[in-house]
Amino acid sequence: MILAADVGATNMRVGLFSEKGELLRVKLGKTPQTQTHETVPRALLNLAKDVAGSEWSSIKSCGVASIGPLDSKRGVILKAPNIAEKGRDIPLLAGLTKELDVDYYFLNDCNAAAYGEWWAVKEGGVKNLIYITISSGIGGGVVDNRHLILGKQGNGAEIGHIVIDATGYMDCGCGGLGHWEAYCSGANIPRLAAKLLHDDRLERGTGLERSIEIGALDAKQCFELYYAGDPAAKRLFEFLKDCYAAGLTSVINAFDAEVLVLGGAIYLRNEDFFNSEVIPRIDKFLLLDKPRISKPVYGDLAPLYGAALCARDEIEGARVTSPLSW
Ligand SMILES: [Zn+2]
Repeated sequence: MILAADVGATNMRVGLFSEKGELLRVKLGKTPQTQTHETVPRALLNLAKDVAGSEWSSIKSCGVASIGPLDSKRGVILKAPNIAEKGRDIPLLAGLTKELDVDYYFLNDCNAAAYGEWWAVKEGGVKNLIYITISSGIGGGVVDNRHLILGKQGNGAEIGHIVIDATGYMDCGCGGLGHWEAYCSGANIPRLAAKLLHDDRLERGTGLERSIEIGALDAKQCFELYYAGDPAAKRLFEFLKDCYAAGLTSVINAFDAEVLVLGGAIYLRNEDFFNSEVIPRIDKFLLLDKPRISKPVYGDLAPLYGAALCARDEIEGARVTSPLSW
């Protein structure tokens, strides 16, 4: 058996997989929001025991996917702004390693998802795959010639933080300037709208301005206003279309993949918009052939599958060599 987990800022999933990589069962739990350096590792352990049940002793290896940034060698989430408190690291694997003596593999959730999605299509001869998720943040992962790009600590292919605007108009949650995610992610589209309006770059007296004034503007409403023809939202999205295309093209140009898997709530809920308004704009930035664009085979479970498959395949770059305990 292989134990796999996917730990997000709000929820965590744990699944039990066969050696063949088949998902046998999976459970969803809440990610604790307080005292996270202790409660999150404990919650992960408890959920894992719940899922494994009497098969706990049959587990041969464990793969864990997590929000980053992380230190994969020590099994630690590093001061993640979305989850860690007061800048403390979270020794995510501390509970598991204390009670389950197996080999551990630890990787960024988007890298795990890229690996899982690659496994789903590799029989068709795909050797190079880019995975991009556009949701509250923008994340991604890359399989290059059948190897998952992981970087020195497991933070490779952080494509949400590529620079698409050297003027640095928007600041990113990570502290950097001009990052793709700071313009185009679900959490940041309303921030961009408010800043553009404040700088008199969008029309006043529109539905967009009213929504901002009453504090009700989220990404979903930005899209709805755009679809309804709100003039300020239309101008906002004329800018956003190029931002999306610039980010996507930069990643495509960097990795020369056969397949681009696009997912995440912002993309999936607005697929027609992306297909008709964004993807055609890629051509004006593109150096290489456009990859085949497809949706995730495993959907929300892609990181979980990827974590299990990385553990099964003993991916060296994701191996936990010195797990940090409490
Ligand atoms: Zn950033």
